[in-house]
Amino acid sequence: MATDFDVVIVGGGPTGLAAAVYTGRSLLKTLVLEKQYPGGQIALSAAIDNYPGFADGISGFDFAQAFVKHAERFGAEIRVGVGAEKVTPEADGTFTISLSDGNAVTSKAVILAMGRHPRKLDVPGYERLFGGGVSVCATCDGAFFRDVPVAVVGGGNSAVEEGHFLTRYASEIKAIHRRDHYTAQKILIEEFLHNPKVKPVWHSVIEEIYGEKEVEGIRVRNLQTDKSEDHAVKAVFVFIGWIPNSEIVKDLVETDESGRLIVNELMETKVPGLYAAGDLCVRPIYQLANVVADGVQAAVSVEKYLESKK
Ligand code: NAP
Repeated sequence: MATDFDVVIVGGGPTGLAAAVYTGRSLLKTLVLEKQYPGGQIALSAAIDNYPGFADGISGFDFAQAFVKHAERFGAEIRVGVGAEKVTPEADGTFTISLSDGNAVTSKAVILAMGRHPRKLDVPGYERLFGGGVSVCATCDGAFFRDVPVAVVGGGNSAVEEGHFLTRYASEIKAIHRRDHYTAQKILIEEFLHNPKVKPVWHSVIEEIYGEKEVEGIRVRNLQTDKSEDHAVKAVFVFIGWIPNSEIVKDLVETDESGRLIVNELMETKVPGLYAAGDLCVRPIYQLANVVADGVQAAVSVEKYLESKK
């Protein structure tokens, strides 16, 4: 059956756009759906320092723009502000993708690259004060908190990297973590902890974020002593991991207990013609370089799959 596209790529972050560069170069008619920003969440990163080949680093915005331009150069159509609401495999092996703008498109193959979203902190005040000092993006909101104390929560690469970025603005960073060490890369940990503005608060969790309309402080409980104390901060930046954006395909594709899609090394799901790649899948590491490589692999797999169907 004739379809609107050879391949629809759901998600226009680095994984989806890397796939689009390759499918475009293979002259496959390609549509990329990106619900939010062109280039995905990486566009919000202040600086990317570990993508091989960029010796001086590059801003997330410039990186995202370059990816978009590259995919468009090879003919991919990128629809920004439009997401996929449902992916339906049809009896003839094609797919119908229902879009958030009310339209639908058909395709011979689909690559899922929807990424993931930040996990919420389940404490009083988080939801109510979100946008009033509670944030999950230092690049977006850090500059609003110049010369005032802020808190950062988490102990992985995100918390340490974004926390280090916040030292540009804040007078002091209370770094709240439930363990007594970070799991981030050593170089990031060293940069962070050597900054005199950073005050680690180990073995501790936030119990409450309070304030009338904006954050005024946090109550923090020490897990070893079970004692709580208040810290006056104007913002709370939360980096406690991610939830995969797999909701629309959870009945179609096998997932692990946290909702990450299970794919093989060719980025195949168990549905012929349906591929998944990057952050929303179970991967050994979540680095920009390997989620880009996932997109490339998915594209090459699609190309071979469509060739085999001719
Ligand atoms: P992560 O590695 O999953 O770390 C999440 C952190 O949040 C852990 O310290 C965890 O503590 C803590 N946490 C989880 N739930 C919590 C809760 N309810 N309350 C308090 N703390 C909680 O997440 P990530 O740092 O966002 O990194 C995700 C992936 O992206 C990683 O693979 C990372 O390497 C990658 N990444 C790479 C870079 C880079 O290379 N520059 C930058 C950002 C992210 P526990 O350890 O106790 O569970």
